[in-house]
Amino acid sequence: MAFTEPAKKSLGQHFLHERGIVARIVQAVDPQPGDCLVEIGPGQGAITFPLLDRHGELTAIEFDRDLIAPLSEAARAHGRLRIISADVLDVDFTALARELAPADGKLRLVGNLPYNLSSPILFHAIDHATTIRDMHFMLQKEVVDRMAAAPGSKIYGRLSVMLQAYCSVTPLLNVPPGAFRPPPKVDSAVVRLVPRPPDAAGIADPKRFADIVRAGFGQRRKTLRNALKGVCDEAGFARAGIDPGARAEQLSVTDFARLSDTPKPEPAEPHA
Ligand code: SAM
Repeated sequence: MAFTEPAKKSLGQHFLHERGIVARIVQAVDPQPGDCLVEIGPGQGAITFPLLDRHGELTAIEFDRDLIAPLSEAARAHGRLRIISADVLDVDFTALARELAPADGKLRLVGNLPYNLSSPILFHAIDHATTIRDMHFMLQKEVVDRMAAAPGSKIYGRLSVMLQAYCSVTPLLNVPPGAFRPPPKVDSAVVRLVPRPPDAAGIADPKRFADIVRAGFGQRRKTLRNALKGVCDEAGFARAGIDPGARAEQLSVTDFARLSDTPKPEPAEPHA
């Protein structure tokens, strides 16, 4: 059974065909015996088959049902492929790790991601960071640049802080549009994310941390005093040692962590 369906734009289908790029991705992943590899969006198997040749088995999550039968048939020549036919955003990685990797409970995620869903997939993955050993993702280069950006840069924002809080972020290689069929309109890049131990960034309350980062960058031109109204008060800024006249883009991940460690201000009493 051949892959006969045309690429579906709505599912972000840009199939990788440059063998040199695929080889560098496999080399970067460097699968070791016992590793539990999970690929997001195997498509027509560009990365799947070389990974299977190298590692022997793999679990892949694919949303496009038209791809499942030809993918599973073609995979037989390469190794044992288990396909989960689902939207990756509905897959509970923690439950999957329990099922697939009972020894160390950790998954290694790989994927040339559908670019229209890259941020939701990244946030979904960091929600399950404690059950992920590492991630190697192909994304829009502009997204990888934002993920790795440092404080003070124009592109440093919520994505940078949230990912760097929970992972080390290492851009690995740039990939031109011509490496894909059909070619996307943008440059791409491969990035490695390695989750840190949960307490590494000193975040005591992950929900408050996420709320503060969202509010801070929601109005990034405003000072923190204004952007975080109702979320942090003057006493909180003082306790965290943060200048309330600064802007979110000037704060490091540990600055945000310290701010999130301050109590949420009590709502003001209504006047009688
Ligand atoms: N890995 C293949 C390659 O490199 O040629 C395909 C990559 S293509 C950029 C993205 C893949 O993700 C497609 O196979 C697409 O069908 C799949 N996909 C799109 N949305 C998805 C979702 N919500 N859950 C799982 N897979 C999805």
